[in-house]
Amino acid sequence: MALINCSECDKEISDKSAYCINCGCPLFPHSNLYDNQTYVPVSNTPIVYKHIPGKGFGVASMVLGIIGLFFSLIWFLISISTGISDFIIMIVLFLFPVLACIFSYIAICKGYSSGIRRVGQLLGVLSAIILIVGAFVISI
Ligand SMILES: [Zn+2]
Repeated sequence: MALINCSECDKEISDKSAYCINCGCPLFPHSNLYDNQTYVPVSNTPIVYKHIPGKGFGVASMVLGIIGLFFSLIWFLISISTGISDFIIMIVLFLFPVLACIFSYIAICKGYSSGIRRVGQLLGVLSAIILIVGAFVISI
């Protein structure tokens, strides 16, 4: 058994051990057990961005919810102030909350239930309510 210096902490350790007993640094290049293995230093390991299934749909849901709420409010205010509501625009605007809720649902199905998709769903429902209430109030 030979003693080698750890590449991380520079303390003397056995060349037979897979890890440094002082700092835990892997010693693959020095250990006889791993002679043929390719050594990748821990510090050089690229950061792996974990793919989260359904996150795209969750984010899309939130974006659609925000856009839907924004334009629903504008439509509502214009309709209230002018007394004229354009139902074609309302139906088009209704696509945003519908899509926000559909995307939110897809996100759940894919196992993504974070707050982002919940915000999308909430904003979608809110803008749908604004559109329905707006259409109801103006048509009376
Ligand atoms: Zn060490």
